[in-house]
Amino acid sequence: VSITILSIVFTLIIIIAYTSALNQLIRQRQISEIKNDFINNMTHEFKTPIATINLALDAIRNPKIIDDKEKVFRYLQMIKDENKRMHAQVENVLRISKLEKRELDIIKESHNIHEIINDAIEHVNLILEDRQGTIVNHFSALRNTVLINDVHFTNVIVNILENAVKYSPNIPEIEIFTENIKDMIIIKIKDKGLGMSKIAQKRVFEKFYREHTGDIHNVKGHGLGLAYVKRIVDDHNGQVYVESEKGKGSTFIIKLPLIN
Ligand code: ADP
Repeated sequence: VSITILSIVFTLIIIIAYTSALNQLIRQRQISEIKNDFINNMTHEFKTPIATINLALDAIRNPKIIDDKEKVFRYLQMIKDENKRMHAQVENVLRISKLEKRELDIIKESHNIHEIINDAIEHVNLILEDRQGTIVNHFSALRNTVLINDVHFTNVIVNILENAVKYSPNIPEIEIFTENIKDMIIIKIKDKGLGMSKIAQKRVFEKFYREHTGDIHNVKGHGLGLAYVKRIVDDHNGQVYVESEKGKGSTFIIKLPLIN
């Protein structure tokens, strides 16, 4: 009997060891795939601005153009814009890694959340106009004072709004709702874009996660925006999640505690 028990225990140990090794291997593969994706995206995003800057510099150095002030100015502006884009991308990556090391000071003060949302809308107005999109506010929350860091929280709303524009293949139609439930304020940001799968809804807040579908691959990004969003909302004792249906659109929901 004892030999049978021993052999069962032994087999069990082998099975457990084997599955845990297998799990680790799968996890490692996932991480390395995510890293590869990230590097590919980053490289791709830097390639275009670098090439554009090179072309603009070559054009300026052309003796026929150098005396044409208007053209030189246009090329210089091009260089400045591309430089700004690269700077913004590097900032994004740095911001999240600083957050992870807890190097960012998150000082909170009381703010009217509706004002923060309106500020965020100002930030995305240009990209919205570029796509002829609209944002309609339905601010129904009567109590709206929250303890937040205005800069980070504006970034949170901007990130969600930018995504709503980015992931809308047609004209972006965005609606923002607020309401009070008990001692919370609920903010809902709704788009009629691509929507996402059930798996994606669970995973979009993970670092470097991007949904692998043909359509979305055409949209640039690093999968960091929503990881940042979650990190900041968590830090404010809030909750963030997404409800979505593929092909119909997504609604990002943020719940924050009120202070009055
Ligand atoms: P990025 O946009 O840089 O890829 P994010 O962290 O902001 O990174 O978003 C992660 C992923 O979540 C996106 O790649 C996309 O697949 C999905 N996603 C985010 N917002 C939306 C949205 N409004 N509609 C559809 N999919 C979205």
